[in-house]
Amino acid sequence: MAGDTVRVGNVEITSLSDGYLEFDACNFFPSISAEQWQPYQVHLTAEHKVRFNLASYLVRSDGRTILVDTGLGPPPPDAPASPWGELLVSLRSHGVQPQDIDMVVMTHLHRDHVGWNLQRNGAAYVPTFPKARYWASRKDYEASRRVEVRERFPNAPSCVWPLQELGLLELMEGEHILTRELTTLPTPGHTPGHMSIMITSQGQRGLILGDAAHNPAQVQETEWVSRADMDSHQAGVTRRQLMERLARERTLVAAGHFPAPGFGRVMTAQGRRYWQGLPG
Ligand SMILES: [Zn+2]
Repeated sequence: MAGDTVRVGNVEITSLSDGYLEFDACNFFPSISAEQWQPYQVHLTAEHKVRFNLASYLVRSDGRTILVDTGLGPPPPDAPASPWGELLVSLRSHGVQPQDIDMVVMTHLHRDHVGWNLQRNGAAYVPTFPKARYWASRKDYEASRRVEVRERFPNAPSCVWPLQELGLLELMEGEHILTRELTTLPTPGHTPGHMSIMITSQGQRGLILGDAAHNPAQVQETEWVSRADMDSHQAGVTRRQLMERLARERTLVAAGHFPAPGFGRVMTAQGRRYWQGLPG
């Protein structure tokens, strides 16, 4: 099996990518000093930047073909060469067409997770995945419509709200059963309704992490809050609980913003947790 596909029992997970984004580490983690990054230099670029893979995960479970998150979307037509916008190419390179997708599931509604949901056709929006229904957290959907926090979901008006008008949106709450093998796990903090996806099959476990962590350093440094975390206290609490659990249960993790393909495990040595990525 190629390095971008893993199995958890009967469930197959393939890592796709829309490209990547880069930020200065001190910009994205404003309260973390260069000194604190010292033990984690390996997780930064040579220019002291954090580089985020924009992964989507293609999951085959229970006869369904499911796409988890849809990247940043098409770059603006007048943009110079863009490091993102590759999701459909990535999908097709695995022999899958947009019409093969039955379900699109969003871990949360930030702009780099909803970008390919819809495309413009004149004044109308059409679903990029024409046979799919789209699943999102009710709390995030409601937040995206609230004036005070709306700017945190900048492309929701074009990439999420029209799904509701088209009758394609399913809103989830709590631990929502997606298939017999996939259940959402509320992991709030990054956004109010952030969801990870728990996979259980044949006695094995996996977790699609979403943005409960952005960089492998946060496997140990769970208090490191990024500027993208909407509730910094809750994000830290959720991250600590999750990392302790993942280490204890040796769960296979799919971490969308970690280096591609983003598969690995949370390990412990000498009282410290660390990320052990599977080779791509
Ligand atoms: Zn993200």
